[in-house]
Amino acid sequence: MKSPPKTAYIPVIGLEVHAQLSTRSKIYAADSNAYGSEPNTDISAITLAHPGTLPKMNRKALEFAIAMGLACGSEISRYNIFCRKNYFYPDLPKGFQLTQDKTPICIGGAVRIRTKDGISREIVLNRIHIEEDAGKSLHQSGTNDTHIDLNRAGVPLIEIVTEPVIPNSEEASLFLTEVRRLLRYLGICDGNMEEGSLRCDANVSVMPAGSAQLGQKVEIKNMNSIRNLRKAIDHEIERQIDLLSRGKAVAGETRTWQADSGNSASMREKEDMNDYRYFPEPDLSPVMVSDGWLESIRRSMPMLPWEREERFQSEYGLSAYDAQVLSESREMAEYTEELLLCVSNRKAAANWIIGPVKGWLNESQMDIAAFPLDSGRLAGLIELVESGRVSYTAAAQKIFPVLLEKSESNPLEMATELNLLQRDDAGFLDKAVEEVVARFPDKVMEYRKGKKGLVGFFMGEVMRSTEGRADPKQAQKLIAEALEKS
Ligand code: ADP
Ligand code: MG
Repeated sequence: MKSPPKTAYIPVIGLEVHAQLSTRSKIYAADSNAYGSEPNTDISAITLAHPGTLPKMNRKALEFAIAMGLACGSEISRYNIFCRKNYFYPDLPKGFQLTQDKTPICIGGAVRIRTKDGISREIVLNRIHIEEDAGKSLHQSGTNDTHIDLNRAGVPLIEIVTEPVIPNSEEASLFLTEVRRLLRYLGICDGNMEEGSLRCDANVSVMPAGSAQLGQKVEIKNMNSIRNLRKAIDHEIERQIDLLSRGKAVAGETRTWQADSGNSASMREKEDMNDYRYFPEPDLSPVMVSDGWLESIRRSMPMLPWEREERFQSEYGLSAYDAQVLSESREMAEYTEELLLCVSNRKAAANWIIGPVKGWLNESQMDIAAFPLDSGRLAGLIELVESGRVSYTAAAQKIFPVLLEKSESNPLEMATELNLLQRDDAGFLDKAVEEVVARFPDKVMEYRKGKKGLVGFFMGEVMRSTEGRADPKQAQKLIAEALEKS
């Protein structure tokens, strides 16, 4: 039997994103929520679930979750309860997880993404709910030992759950990238996937084209980078299409992604009968979200990434592309805005950040937060170029690196010290042009016979003889005049 072509199946993806909230303490206890402490040091009696201990709600964790919901346009639940989800796991001392699963604090909403082709699409959310993280089991390789670190137990999480509406791995990775940008803008999660503060499970199904019913979903876990998320989804789509086109069924199961081999393996069959015996936690009173509280959270929210992008375009006249690049992080956007406020040519300033500044940050693997040149000094350098006193090349290649090294140095002083100030007094340039034209009579002839491209050659010679200190615009004008003169 011939197998049907691959395009006959349509993939559908839904994502579940776990974000650890960067509160100072845990969600139901005062233990530190710092990453990387010595194992089992941030563990009070509450975290260890000693008999008689009671949870106490972390107000900040609620505010962070609400801020995320407001940013996504979700409806905020005013009456919130937390439930016990009962199951046994070695790194879960209480024997249950306190979660909101069934009564999420944020309902619906959406996150907007922009695809490579510039198409903007909304990924609709099902909900955002609050829950607690479990501890960590560390399997020692080469032994049968498992070590348990309970520092992570009780770390506050939000889980952002999409509807099954994502059509491919590209949009899934764009969604996760945008969620990470938003979490970081809001300052509620550091978004570090390697350290596990941001984690993503992918639910993947495929259905025959034209079908009105979604296919059987498979959940994939353990992708610790956006690249791996993409690979795991593509791999799973292919695996399912292969099964279906051979007349086999897709099993409802949870699979784990193995980045090393680029493969996935079954972890557990979906236990339809799973009964977690959810019931409301009797030791936590319901949390009511008042109008006043909601309003104060809304007011304390920073400008959101797409608001920045919009502002860069409408207030500063930047292109959509520049606006997007310059809004990739809140710190980058803030630096950019400071810079834009003190330069005469905003497009040029945007190019300075996208070019030399980002180039330097990439090379030194640093964040804009650690960039040694403040926006005022960079603006000073840009103005030297804009006013024609220093060439762009001299500014970017000679002065910029020195300003980065010497935190006290000032752009004009550096330009003077390095002898890079351009001279545009006519006498000086006239002479240089005259000399060069006299030196290459045959080139002048060729030019006059129609090889107009030789202007570039004369420019190069003039720049060389003036050691780069000629104003290029002025030089070009004088060269053209000299060449036309017979
Ligand atoms: P469960 O009850 O099995 O946890 P949910 O309905 O809560 O399933 O959905 C969990 C995640 O799976 C959501 O992100 C949702 O969008 C996604 N999902 C549900 N059904 C499908 C499907 N058929 N194909 C792909 N993703 C799906
Ligand atoms: Mg679920």
